Amino acid sequence: MWDLVSKRFDTPIYRLLGDEVALPKVPYTSALFGNDPAETLALARRASDRGFRAAKFGWGPYGIGNVAAGVDHVAATREGLGPEGILLVDAGTVWFDAVERAAARLDHLRQHGVTWLEEPFVSGAFGAYRALAARSGTVRLAAGEGCHTPFQAKHLMDHAGSGFI
Ligand SMILES: [Mg+2]
Repeated sequence: MWDLVSKRFDTPIYRLLGDEVALPKVPYTSALFGNDPAETLALARRASDRGFRAAKFGWGPYGIGNVAAGVDHVAATREGLGPEGILLVDAGTVWFDAVERAAARLDHLRQHGVTWLEEPFVSGAFGAYRALAARSGTVRLAAGEGCHTPFQAKHLMDHAGSGFI
């Protein structure tokens, strides 16, 4: 839609959004994890083949079963995307507010160089976010899809340790 409006008014999108200059952005492709690691590997390879430097994988089987099952999926995304790719994981609030269930995944997310873990918990679980953020190290938390106002998003950053909105 922004692209259409930009063309209609012959105005760059960054100006439509209120920015004075164009800030650099990295587009990422987004896909569900496959039903098994082989399918996930194929999806990640396809993202890389299409030229994406960044890819997000989420939902599907990730986080539902035991930790080991998730390890294989994340390893497959890293293998398919390559060592330099920016890898993002979206848990889709699968752990609701269970910090230890999310924390049990931090080792393999760090090992495979995941940049952000998105929505490990529901939006209002500030305490869970803050507790996980304190332990997540290089894996920063992303959240905010459930926010209804800019104030709620700011609270996630200021009080819940979210590194990305
Ligand atoms: Mg999401």
